[in-house]
Parts: sequence; structure tokens; C-alpha cells
Amino acid sequence: MRGRVGIGGIWHETNTFSTETTGMAAFEAYQLATGTSLLDRYAGTGTELGGMIEGVRDQGFSLAPTLFAAAVPSGIIERPTLTQLVDDLIARVDDAMPLDGMLLVLHGAAVADGLDDADGWILAQLRKVLSQNMPLVASFDCHANLSHAMVDHADMLIGYDTYPHVDMAERGREAAGALAAMMRTSSRPASAFRKLPLLTAPQMQATDQEPMKTIMASLHGLEADGTILNGSIAMGFPYADSPTLGGSVLTYADEQQAADRAADQLARQIWELRDQFQPDLMLVDAAVKQAIEADETPVVLAEAADNVGGGSAGDGTVVLKALLFAEARDAVIVIADPDAVAEADKAGVGAPFAGLIGGKVDRLHGDPIHVIGQVVLLTDGRYRHTGSYMTGYETSMGRTAVIQADGVKIVLTSLRTMPFDAGQLTSVGIDPAHQRIIVAKSALAWQAAYGAIAKRAMTIDTPGIATSNLARLPYRRRRKPLYPLDRQDFSEALPFP
Ligand SMILES: [Zn+2]
Repeated sequence: MRGRVGIGGIWHETNTFSTETTGMAAFEAYQLATGTSLLDRYAGTGTELGGMIEGVRDQGFSLAPTLFAAAVPSGIIERPTLTQLVDDLIARVDDAMPLDGMLLVLHGAAVADGLDDADGWILAQLRKVLSQNMPLVASFDCHANLSHAMVDHADMLIGYDTYPHVDMAERGREAAGALAAMMRTSSRPASAFRKLPLLTAPQMQATDQEPMKTIMASLHGLEADGTILNGSIAMGFPYADSPTLGGSVLTYADEQQAADRAADQLARQIWELRDQFQPDLMLVDAAVKQAIEADETPVVLAEAADNVGGGSAGDGTVVLKALLFAEARDAVIVIADPDAVAEADKAGVGAPFAGLIGGKVDRLHGDPIHVIGQVVLLTDGRYRHTGSYMTGYETSMGRTAVIQADGVKIVLTSLRTMPFDAGQLTSVGIDPAHQRIIVAKSALAWQAAYGAIAKRAMTIDTPGIATSNLARLPYRRRRKPLYPLDRQDFSEALPFP
């Protein structure tokens, strides 16, 4: 069969508690590709697009690249930016007609100004230009706060099965395969969507640890024995305060009854395990003390509250202050602070550095602290991912400086960068294996970079907009009830019989 497949997407995980908004510059700084350059940039990489491109080519179909835009997780998307991106995407889809199918990359926790469910809106706009019977398959991040609109406007949604996320290319290939199957027939799979009244911290959503390990095994069992064609578990992103907040189960099968039964079974299982999602958090000073005294190193201090991948500024100073105060040795911390980079740049390599670092974006992650040290390195901050996250993709931290302050190396970046690949440190001449303490501004995804070398890891309870201590967050838009924030009788709120 011949066929032509449109490919594109808009990807953003929105932290609505951020004091900053997300405009076009944030997409331009991270990932924005159109037309054939989209194919050049993503083919062969460990991304959804990489998998989709390979999958479509394997089917013998031709590709019509449109637009892909992604910003590092951050605050609410400015409405004109989202409108401009969607208009551009749709214009390119229109230009690419006739198409036989469409593949889209979404996140599923995108919020724009005045749009609680930006992903659902994107799909609805796209659906308007696609003929009603043209198959549309979209991928999403399992941190999605899935909505009925998303499910209704796509013929299939396929979520990552791993957290830390290492299966994007595989899911992209799966999406291409599912689309190809739909292109060959006019029938579409039945879907069953169950929204749970449950909120969990990303830190507790690791798919190779309990309780997610058991839940994912059930899902994969239902896929393997043919009960369902495909299913996804999205435990949600607790920092996108919206009515769609929270965990969900989505299944597809040839028969409605099979999809329903599987979704009910999975939703019930997750609900029964709800108490196992409570995070174990340590106070900063105690964690730093234990890390300094550790016999086996490196020790990773995961600062989830300032998780760059969760939309935080990445310039929190609480841990840096504790490390300096406790006179830690061989410790490394990355802080996004373009002003401090500029000062280091002005001073030059080998020169003393004395200036304020971090805490500048807001007052929610500690105050700026005055640091005295030496500039030991200045770079352009580029590295190519060699680990399991977005393998092969090149990331830019912008102009980057390394400051040595007593026993602490402070990597100052101009751009906020997720610590999901060891290249963030190796590219500035720091061997992670030889550090005693690595501070990762991440809940869990740091494991893709340092999981193999970390002898111990502690999640610390610092203040911040991506805290694992969900009771700290000032929710206004969320639905109720949600466990564990609300404590009441949930029997009316459960989505399974
Ligand atoms: Zn995610």
C-alpha cells in the first residue's frame, strides 16, 4: 500500500506555579524544526519523532514533515505563542495534503493562558483540517494529565511506558505501526478512558520501582495476551494545576467491552495501591551531612522541588548554601543563571569570581547567595546525548561557566537544562564518577544520567514549585476530590464499578 503520513507536534509540560510565562523564545531555544529540517534533526535519534520517522519509512510510506516545537518544561504558555505554533502546524498540514494519516507528538500536560487543556485544544484544531476518517495517532509523556478532549480527538494516544523516560523512539515506532494498521482499514479501535481521583509525585512514578512496576506488568500482560491492542498509564503531572489534573488509564481494543474491562481492572489496581505513592523526603542539612560522611560515593542529592524537567527555574540555592556551609568536598551543582555566567565570562578563566548566584527568577527556591571562588572553565555548553535519554540529540546549555568555590564546583548555565544526560557534566570536564556529591535538580529522571554510578540517592524536601510534598502547593484549578490532598469518602469519585 502506498501512503503519505504527516508528522509534527507541540510538546510542553507546564508548571502553572511558575512565576514566568513561556513564549516563543523558549521554543526557539529548545526545539523548533519545520519542513525537511525536522527529518534531518530527528531521524536516528532516541526521540518520538526518531521512532516515528523510522516506523513510517519501514512501512514504505512517504513522510510529510510539518512543524515540531518543544520548550523545556516551564510556566504557562503565552496564548499568542500557542496560537502561532498551532496555526503554523495546521498551515503546513494543509499544504502537505493529500495525506493518508497523521502522527503527532504531544506532552499531555500543556496549559496555555486561558486554556487548561492545551493538548486537547491542539488536537481539536488539527482535527478540523483533517478529514473525519483520516487516522490520527499521537504520542504523549506519561506525566500527561489526560483529558476526554484528547482521547476524543485522536484515534489513538500512545504514552511512554518508562519513567525515567527511555522509550520515546520505541513508542514513536509503535505509533507509526498503529497508524499504518488504521490506514489499511476504515474501522477504528474502541477506547476506554478512566480518570482516577489520584495525585502522585513524579518521584514515586518510577516504572522500574513499586508500585508502578506491578502496575506496568499488569498493563503489559493485557497487551501481550491480546486482551487489548494498546494501553497507557498516565500518572499525571501534579504541577499543572487544571481540572484535568491527576492519574488516568487509557486502553484500546477491537471490542469496546474488552477495552472497558481492561481499563477498569487497571484503574482499580492503581487505586488499591494508592498509599504506596507516598514519597520519602529528607531535610537538606541531614541529607548533606549524610552525603559528606558517606563511605561510598557518589551520592546523588535529588532536588525535586527545583526540578528543571518539572518546570522549575533551576536556580534554587538552598542546597548550594548547605553544601558551602557544611564545607562539602568534591561536590557539584548545576545552576541556571545567565547573569552569573556573564560575570564569569567578563572575569575570564583563572580569575577570581565574586558575585551573587541563583535565586533570581523568583523567591520560591532560596535567595541569591554571594559566592567567592575561581572561574575554572568557560564553554559554549553544547553536548550530544550519549545515555538512554534522547540518545544522539544535541542539547545546548548556552554559554556555561564552572566556578570552584572551596570544595564545590558550580556549573553555571545560561539556559535551563534538564540533568538527564551525563554530558551536562562531562562536557565541562567533570567526571561524575569521581564526585562525592552530585546535586540533580530532578525528581527521578536524573537516573538516566547517573543511576548507574550513584551509590546512594536521597530526595530532599526543599521549597519549590516542583516539590514532591504536594501539600505545599497552592492549587486553585484542580478537580476535587483528589487523594491524598482530600480525605473523604471516594466511592462516588471512582471511575470503575
Ligand atoms: Zn515526563
